[in-house]
Amino acid sequence: CGMRAAGMSKRPEVKPWILGIHAYVPGKSQSPEGRPLVKLSANENPLGTSEAALQARSAASSPADYPDPGSNALRAAIGELHGIDPARIVCGTGSDELLNLAAQAFAGPGDEVLFSRFSFSVYDIAARRCGATPVEAPDKDYATDVDALLTAVTDRTRVVFVANPNNPTGTYLSQSDIARLHAGLPAEVLLVVDQAYAEYLAPEEDDGGLALAAVHENVLVTRTFSKIYGLAGERIGWATGAPHLIDALNRIRGPFNVTISGQAAAIAAVADQAFVERSREHNRAELTRFTTAIEALGNHGLRPVPSKANFLLVLFEGDLTAERALGEIANAGYAVRHLPGQGLPHALRITIGRSGDMDEIIKVLRRLTGESA
Ligand code: PMP
Repeated sequence: CGMRAAGMSKRPEVKPWILGIHAYVPGKSQSPEGRPLVKLSANENPLGTSEAALQARSAASSPADYPDPGSNALRAAIGELHGIDPARIVCGTGSDELLNLAAQAFAGPGDEVLFSRFSFSVYDIAARRCGATPVEAPDKDYATDVDALLTAVTDRTRVVFVANPNNPTGTYLSQSDIARLHAGLPAEVLLVVDQAYAEYLAPEEDDGGLALAAVHENVLVTRTFSKIYGLAGERIGWATGAPHLIDALNRIRGPFNVTISGQAAAIAAVADQAFVERSREHNRAELTRFTTAIEALGNHGLRPVPSKANFLLVLFEGDLTAERALGEIANAGYAVRHLPGQGLPHALRITIGRSGDMDEIIKVLRRLTGESA
């Protein structure tokens, strides 16, 4: 035995850049005592899913068959809705897959992948996965700072990720901000505009990402069916950009990366824009109401970060701490997101839920601040 000890200690060596990654930490959906909580922690649609999408999903063909590897009918449906040539679209296993593939295709060891502080946690993982160096530019009061991003660009920068609206802050860059960011980047740097929450914007708030991706060779826009379309569990995202970008992602994506039921559900969901409109309207009304309620607690140190998404980041800058609020909100039956690992120990990200759920959250916060009994 002793003689073989050295040999037995041999094992496959994990690449050092992989060991630098912290595995994604999901939000909790149970109370400390194990009670299930209503989830206002993952930015899911409180109205659920379009009825037509649910029907199409259950009518989809046999799971013994492989899905269409090209998601052709789904790309045609997305292309028609957005006025995009389907050849310029690629579908993914959630937009997560596409964000990772974008980093992998355009960055590697020695290269830098740039994004803002307080942006989507997957960008850091996507950079490290391919051995590139993640670089965080400073924020501007929780919002993406275009000037700080441009200042952080070096001759090693290969990919810039911008979430718009941004998760976890809900902040938003206008069309002129995005255009200025793009104009300030060298042509050989890929700008990824992650529009996971774009459908929550009013039409006049369009950030112009799709228009940039239609004409420039270095802009990729990603979208998802996980948020307003209520299909997070089916894992479907898409990206659009110049043919050489789409070609690169097609080379490295999973060949059968969107399931049969996912493709069927998403096609029906695209056709049901009335559901999207209802979801957007519900979110607009409840986000406004919730933001106003938090503002009213400003003298207790609560501060909403102005949001254009389907969640609100609430800062706790007074006596009431985010930890205490998190615990009391859980006692009331709700899971919300605390992100101390992302530099936000003093904040909670609360998904906009049903009206009654928002009433309950407001009630807890008013009670904790002594605004009501
Ligand atoms: N981008 C942003 C900004 C997100 O918040 C999310 C979901 N948390 C995603 C992308 C990924 O979503 P999915 O993989 O479900 O499409």
